[in-house]
Amino acid sequence: MRWASGLWATCGALAAATTLVTTSAAAQIVSDSDGDGLPDEWERSGHGILDPRIHGVSVGKRDFIIVYALRGNTDAAAARAAMERVRTFYAGLPIPNPDGSTGLNLVLVEGPRLAAEYNDPDRSTYDAMYGAGFPVAWRGIGRGFLVEARGGRGGQTIPGGEWAAAGAPWQTIAHEIGHQLGIDGHAPPGSGVSPLYGSIMSYDYNYSFNGNADAVHMSTGRFAGVTLDETRLDEVLPFALGDVAFLQAAPYKFKLQADGPSRVLVDWNRNGIPGERGIQADINDGYAVSGSLPALELGPTSGAPVLAPVGRHLFLVYPQATTPQASWTNAFNVNAHGASIMVSRIGSDGPTSPVDGRGSATSELSAVGFGNNTLAVGYQTAGIARIVYWPVRAEGGLGDRKEILWPKTMQTAVSSDPFKPDRVLLVVGTEPAPPPPKAPSPIPGTNPGQPTPQVPPSSANERPALFMLLWSAAAQEVHVVRVAYDGLNFTFPPQYSYPLRTGNIDRLKCSSPPAATIDPANNSLIVACRNDAWNRGVVRTHHFAYRNGGYAELSFMLDVGDFGSDEAPTLVLDPPFPGERRSRMTVYGKVAAPGNVAAIVRRAREVRDGSGVGGWRTSMMSNEWEKTQSAPAAASFDGSHAYAVRFSHQDARIPDRIVLYRRTGIVPGPLRDFDDLPLLRMAMKTRLEALRAYHRVK
Ligand SMILES: [Zn+2]
Repeated sequence: MRWASGLWATCGALAAATTLVTTSAAAQIVSDSDGDGLPDEWERSGHGILDPRIHGVSVGKRDFIIVYALRGNTDAAAARAAMERVRTFYAGLPIPNPDGSTGLNLVLVEGPRLAAEYNDPDRSTYDAMYGAGFPVAWRGIGRGFLVEARGGRGGQTIPGGEWAAAGAPWQTIAHEIGHQLGIDGHAPPGSGVSPLYGSIMSYDYNYSFNGNADAVHMSTGRFAGVTLDETRLDEVLPFALGDVAFLQAAPYKFKLQADGPSRVLVDWNRNGIPGERGIQADINDGYAVSGSLPALELGPTSGAPVLAPVGRHLFLVYPQATTPQASWTNAFNVNAHGASIMVSRIGSDGPTSPVDGRGSATSELSAVGFGNNTLAVGYQTAGIARIVYWPVRAEGGLGDRKEILWPKTMQTAVSSDPFKPDRVLLVVGTEPAPPPPKAPSPIPGTNPGQPTPQVPPSSANERPALFMLLWSAAAQEVHVVRVAYDGLNFTFPPQYSYPLRTGNIDRLKCSSPPAATIDPANNSLIVACRNDAWNRGVVRTHHFAYRNGGYAELSFMLDVGDFGSDEAPTLVLDPPFPGERRSRMTVYGKVAAPGNVAAIVRRAREVRDGSGVGGWRTSMMSNEWEKTQSAPAAASFDGSHAYAVRFSHQDARIPDRIVLYRRTGIVPGPLRDFDDLPLLRMAMKTRLEALRAYHRVK
């Protein structure tokens, strides 16, 4: 599977240099019997540049005026055609007018073509283009729109709605005009994104609805009676299959099954079993994976954050260098001075202030919880593998820091060449506990009332086992070291590391830093990485069974997809699908962008409903502006995924508060459909009245 490197058309708010009045309190009281914000007097006799005989406005029908300017080499005929299609869209809205007609009448006025000096996106602001593109004579009467030469880039709308910009396709323009008329959000008020909110104002359905680009529409709220919550879902909808059939199309591709004439079974959690009750699922990842808001901000960081659940506590660990000053503009420089290990606990009331765990990391970090009461962090310093660890107290505080180093002499003994690790990864599995000392046998025939001893749960026969994985960029190999634990301290036992193998002689090759974890469902080791010699760019998971105290035998491999990134993927496990003996995998990875270019993160999660390509459903994280220069952090915690990213603001004026943390995937809160039309009717009037007051148009 290969993702298109296409652009994610979307929509942002323009930063406004001017503050627009957004209430109509200042507007003079005038008669506006059709409620479009244009006074009856204007619609009868004209006002300034507005002439009813030319522009076709009338009393009795809702009219609104868009003056559209052209940027660069935008084709005038194509712009006109797109605007005419938008006109048809608004004319078709089921909004009744006093004169008996329905729909909104979009009055199109062709504005100026901007001078060539505005072609350079880096040198011309939308504020400046407002001045050049929206004629003064129309201010307070109509709204301005800039038709961009390049389409597919999404659009933006200024708060207050007076000025917006977008290119092709026409659906983007219609969406931005929806913002201009007064629908501010991309989800209903008081709701997260819902797959049942089929509006053109939702990113999910901006460009296509039920597989049809011409079927995009404003929502009339026909499903508003159903409130969904991702933390407690019933896979039943009280509608006819035909009414919700659009859920089977992109972007969701949910599997539906009619259950009578007005009931549909859904497979919200994509496990192949529709109709379950009381389940949890991420059901609104159509455009992007949403998360709890606002995201917590920590930092600054010099590299990738990592997340480690320890018992019921969650720790966020990240490297912070002092020289050069940590900044998103700097790559993580392994040759620079080592970075401090910053440790913060994410409590229910936010993150604790980070503890400086010292150490001088010259690589990215790995962190795991061990036995519900120990936090361990692995990294390397100048080629020496190192583990620092802390006991975690019941309330979540850290005890005394301890540290072990992988001895140099053994490091050179793992192969004929020195094996200097570029990455150190920690994973925790289980192993049989040594048998307890035998109690003296009871004398036969005595104590007859004693019940038959219960077989203790298997967990009592197992104990956690820490393994250290070393990856070398030069050798492209992954070596395993078993770390001993005596109940208080970790030690490196006197043994060599061994390389992971994919066959009798072939060693596992990872072209980029791997992710690794141990599957609690079967105690197998999973290593996810690229092998460019076999399948360029594709992240593959390799599953190694546990045998005789180690991970030797390759069970199987799965291709995830092409993230195209040099950064390590991040692997998260959730409980198995029904009937499976291995955990469900989710892979997070920074996308594309060679070198150290900031890029978005994508999530690929395993599905069993047949909707995913190769069994994986892929989604962008957050939105197209949340870019990172490092691998993302993710962990399964408290029913959803904890997620952190080294955020690149791409704006030097914003301070480096750049570790963003949020809960993602399954997020509590209401998800609803919504009737756009009453809001549209009300806002198109009040917003225009506010613009009229702002420009003092009397
Ligand atoms: Zn928008």
